[in-house]
Amino acid sequence: MKITDDHWLEDAKRVPLPGGAVMSIRRFLVMHFTSGATAMSSINYWKELGNGVCAHVVIDRDGTIYQCRPFNRTCGHAGASQWKDPNTGITYFDLNSCAIGIEMANGGDSDSLIERFSKLKPLVARHKNGGPVKNWEKYPKAQLDACEAVSKALVARYNLDDLVGHDDIAPERKVDPGPAFPMQAMREACGFQGLPKP
Ligand SMILES: [Zn+2]
Repeated sequence: MKITDDHWLEDAKRVPLPGGAVMSIRRFLVMHFTSGATAMSSINYWKELGNGVCAHVVIDRDGTIYQCRPFNRTCGHAGASQWKDPNTGITYFDLNSCAIGIEMANGGDSDSLIERFSKLKPLVARHKNGGPVKNWEKYPKAQLDACEAVSKALVARYNLDDLVGHDDIAPERKVDPGPAFPMQAMREACGFQGLPKP
């Protein structure tokens, strides 16, 4: 998967959301789920909100990739957050300023969304950050394959230092991408070891 000189994925459908600030250095890749219906429904929702909430890339359940903003501009996907760079030991705060965000179209732990939009049997699990055992929408293979291709391209092109979940960088607030996301496999495909280390 190619990334153009002006920081767009060649294979993505472009749905530009103007705004953001210049992001000159990218350190982290952050995974999310939308808690929503389709990728486009989430993008349209962000457009309506108009408050800066968005991610760089949104991947539909069928593997269709949408890009909303080039990778040299910030998106509002991380919020209050922090992560320690495993290479330098430096802790970064407010990761919107230095992280690329990928949103997976996924109903998360919403039984009604899972019933309406997922073709797979949900995963029954407790989140690693706690809470009750509940259903989590599984990610279809086509969606994970697309996520892996995009992630590998981003880590290689921008020499990213870590690949983490929103539930790693804001564990008190967030549960995405959740227990159904194959975090370790995705990290290893991109050259990182094991699970994220908080
Ligand atoms: Zn998130």
